[in-house]
Amino acid sequence: MKKFDYLIVGAGLFGCVFANEMTRRGKKCLVIEKRNHIGGNIYTENIENINVHKYGAHIFHTSNKKIWDYINQFADFNHYINSPLANYKGEIYNLPFNMNTFNKMWGVITPAEAREKIREQSCQIEEHPKNLEEMAVSLVGKDIYEKLIEGYTEKQWGRNCKELPPFIIKRLPVRFEYDNNYFNDIYQGIPIGGYTQICEKMLEGTEVQLSVDYFDQKEHFDSLAKTVVYTGTIDRYFDYCYGPLQYRSIRFENRILNIPDNFQGNAVINYTHRDIPYTRIIEHKHFEFGKQEKTVISYEYSDEWNIDKEPYYPINDTFNNDQYAKYSDLVEKETNIIFGGRLGSYKYYDMDKVIESVLNVTDNL
Ligand code: FAD
Ligand code: UDP
Repeated sequence: MKKFDYLIVGAGLFGCVFANEMTRRGKKCLVIEKRNHIGGNIYTENIENINVHKYGAHIFHTSNKKIWDYINQFADFNHYINSPLANYKGEIYNLPFNMNTFNKMWGVITPAEAREKIREQSCQIEEHPKNLEEMAVSLVGKDIYEKLIEGYTEKQWGRNCKELPPFIIKRLPVRFEYDNNYFNDIYQGIPIGGYTQICEKMLEGTEVQLSVDYFDQKEHFDSLAKTVVYTGTIDRYFDYCYGPLQYRSIRFENRILNIPDNFQGNAVINYTHRDIPYTRIIEHKHFEFGKQEKTVISYEYSDEWNIDKEPYYPINDTFNNDQYAKYSDLVEKETNIIFGGRLGSYKYYDMDKVIESVLNVTDNL
């Protein structure tokens, strides 16, 4: 008799939702996590009475009512709407690309004028853009591409925009309205009190072991449970037999500042010129409209990934997707194991999509 029904590798959002769902169904779960805390990349830590998003700004957004109701069981959400700004050599532009951006860039007033400007600047692009550069120019024109996209994207991904897939830029809305909401989703907010409490509640009734790497004692852990749920990198699971997949890493530099008011007037400011080494500065108190005496800011530097660094973003270009497909074929041959999450599925998933994917799996078990 095995002691657990499920061994869950990784206490990120996928692992926590999975544990919660199965514990509710009377199953026994063991979660192991190599970091010294739960939550994976949505982990928040209270510093100076501010909930600091330790692995980058996390705004919950979804259009799926089921997922919104699901996450609201674990926390109350505030009315925060993400409206980041872009700083290009001291010029400030609204994001996502909308009438405020077009007005500041070109002085145009109406949607018709903005569309005409974009048409003039993108007429060279063929009907089906082949890469991120072509997609971006066709959506917002050359000026916005050069000032707000090219430098930022090349810093973030460490690659030329011609080598990146078009879908990455399609994540951002382009709007012919004066509307700075970064997302199109119906529901949006930040959990009051941070994300870690959500994961704590999800893991109630589940045994959790921190600072444990699955691969240090794989046989031992496998022997404990009937099924393994694996949310680490898929290539690592198969000993990189087709070579490592590529990821993008991030380095954060956090500072506590003792200043009146706040540091930058907004939660997120992107630095879009390539000469500024960081991609963005996050000021965490704004996520919960904080009025604390101090403020905590994080400089976010995009970083080349190697096996010793945290993998944050899968790089879903053709080369890596083909490699992933080979690993995915190996998954088909495994038994008693479920792969999931951003790393296990090698997908650029937002939080709502992660929850949706868990519920799809657990509903079918
Ligand atoms: P993870 O959070 O990566 O969890 C996987 C866990 O497994 C990790 O804790 C890891 O340490 C552990 N693990 C891996 N290997 C092992 C092993 N061998 N042994 C033990 N443990 C292991 N989504 C949004 O919806 N809105 C946002 O605004 C947003 N902003 C983001 C900003 C940044 C900078 C990043 C990187 C992501 C953002 N996301 C956002 C996406 C969000 O972070 C993910 O959707 C979510 O965290 C994925 O959860 P996960 O469980 O799949 O992965
Ligand atoms: N992007 C950009 N300039 C910006 C913000 C975003 O060019 O000021 C591009 C960049 O290529 C990025 C993509 O839009 O990878 C998607 O942005 P998003 O904010 O969704 O990225 P995230 O950090 O959430 O993954």
